[in-house]
Amino acid sequence: MEFLTLITDTKVSVDKFPEKCPKCGKAIQSSFHIAKETCFNKEKVAQRLDAIFECPDKKCGRLFLAIYKRNDGINDGIEEDFLLARMVIECPERFDECIKKISPKFGDIWNEAFRAEHHGLKDICGAGYRKALEFLIKDYLIYRSPQKETEIKNKKLDKCADELDEALKKRVKRAIWLGNDETHYMRKWEGKDLKDLKALIGSTLDWIKGVHLTSHYENEMPDKK
Ligand SMILES: [Zn+2]
Repeated sequence: MEFLTLITDTKVSVDKFPEKCPKCGKAIQSSFHIAKETCFNKEKVAQRLDAIFECPDKKCGRLFLAIYKRNDGINDGIEEDFLLARMVIECPERFDECIKKISPKFGDIWNEAFRAEHHGLKDICGAGYRKALEFLIKDYLIYRSPQKETEIKNKKLDKCADELDEALKKRVKRAIWLGNDETHYMRKWEGKDLKDLKALIGSTLDWIKGVHLTSHYENEMPDKK
């Protein structure tokens, strides 16, 4: 059992502090900042507690919201006031300007999946990340070859990946395999999960950014003759 001091200066008991950061995914001893009771019933008893915690990891250091629900029963013989229900990072992820330019919808779809993930909807957010990947790859190919727009839009994502440079194709194909695992009944890649899918999409973004940056400077600073 842990105790939290509310903004009203009263103390409440909770079953635990968050043990994993919802942003970086690391196991943490989160530090508590502030909490407030909400969702009062007719008897003026709060049914929910919102608490802000901070990830102690130096690289991450994000604040996040932990939502606790009123404990109506007895948990392991100890009766805490509130039980940890879920953690939320409401702040959407930001993407480079070049990614926004190449694929305007990628970030929106990614952030819908991201919100679903952080609301505990683990079974459906993977399909969202898979959809974000599809927009990114198709938009990237259309950006490179606008004359092939209709053809690319109608082509299966797997076939689109065949048109990518070899190094990019390797990671995109694997992201597609894991993305399919998120949408199908049977998993083909046991031992791989959402974290791997997101890492592969992240690495795809890095590659596209790198190529974009290189061609930007090549245009501004042409090779000397
Ligand atoms: Zn963190």
